Amino acid sequence: SEKKKLSLTSRIVIGMVAGIILGTIIRYVAGDNAWVSLYLTNGLFDVVGQIFITSLKMLVVPLVFVSLVVGTCSLSDPSKLGRLGGKAVGMYMITTAIAISFAIFSAVLVQPGSGIERSSEASFEANEAPSISEVIINLFPDNPINAMAEGNMLQIIVFALLFGISMALVGKPGERLKGFFDDLNAVIMKLVVILMAVAPYGVFALMAKLFTEIGVEMIGSLAKYFLLVLFVLIAHGLIVYPLFMRVLARVKPGIFLKKMRDAQLFGFSTASSNATMPITLETVTRRLGVSNSVGSFTVPLGATINMDGTAIMQGVATVFIAQVYGLDLGIAEYLMVIMTATLASVGTAGVPGVGLIIGVDRLLDMTRTAVNVTGDAMVSTVVARSEGDFDEEVYYDENAGKKLE
Ligand code: ASP
Repeated sequence: SEKKKLSLTSRIVIGMVAGIILGTIIRYVAGDNAWVSLYLTNGLFDVVGQIFITSLKMLVVPLVFVSLVVGTCSLSDPSKLGRLGGKAVGMYMITTAIAISFAIFSAVLVQPGSGIERSSEASFEANEAPSISEVIINLFPDNPINAMAEGNMLQIIVFALLFGISMALVGKPGERLKGFFDDLNAVIMKLVVILMAVAPYGVFALMAKLFTEIGVEMIGSLAKYFLLVLFVLIAHGLIVYPLFMRVLARVKPGIFLKKMRDAQLFGFSTASSNATMPITLETVTRRLGVSNSVGSFTVPLGATINMDGTAIMQGVATVFIAQVYGLDLGIAEYLMVIMTATLASVGTAGVPGVGLIIGVDRLLDMTRTAVNVTGDAMVSTVVARSEGDFDEEVYYDENAGKKLE
């Protein structure tokens, strides 16, 4: 009799929990043991964890370029791209606006900043948003190799789209190249699947290292803020997204949440939408039933401009800081915040380190990232559905994408 193999999701969860427990034990029992620090925390755990994250990031640029070229050159009607882009950007902005409104509303109700001394551990950094014309000009690379070297996602997307469209238009040479890109795409996706298979160890190492450094006691006086951000993030992920899935994608949302678990776990443990992108793309195209031509476009776009989790934190942080500093903000000011933050979320694409700096921000960062990637997948599915590029059979097939594991 064959023993039932544990699913990848279960193995990642086991790796994560084991890492958290071990890290916490080390923190409290052997926190200042030089041997433990040298060989384990800053040795084995760090090496394995960093290699894991780096390998994921390594795949992002080739994956986005190749899969987007494949997706674009097989489009029957390239004019569709404009509509697709419009819908995706529109949906990304709408979901961000909803996220930040939800966050501000909850924070005004809960008052997380009441009773906090002004001089506490909190400090705030604002990013300056570039002008709209700057954002648009910056979409176009003057040197595609440079764009790839810098990992400038929007420029890579634009180059890949133009390249793919030309392939579709040029005839024979384009057809020959398409075979080559199809093969490249298969090879890179295989690499994604291999990395997913070793993820339980990577996640274990990341968590074990992280939890030797942070403990819940560090939350201190910011507990109310911390718990509120956490609550809104979870509610957004478990209520708002499923609602969108039901109403706009017209599918049972429970399946979406179930299939998203791996990507969420990757997002959570790496705290980087970017590093998670290969898994998000794999999930969206192979498990959720979004066509490659839509997913390869909307997923990298979303990973770059759509950060609902981050917007939620910004919303709560805005109210929190206003309270700590005794500023009285009214509806008009909050509407202003919602608008600017939504626009800035597109403009400040990929600028890390937004917001409130606290010792345990990393824990919130991890949760935000899980929400960010869920939002990208949700919008991808909704857009694909509206374009007729969605395969409901794949969506409802429990084993879709599984055999590749
Ligand atoms: N770490 C988040 C992400 O990559 C961004 C953030 O909120 O800092 O999605």
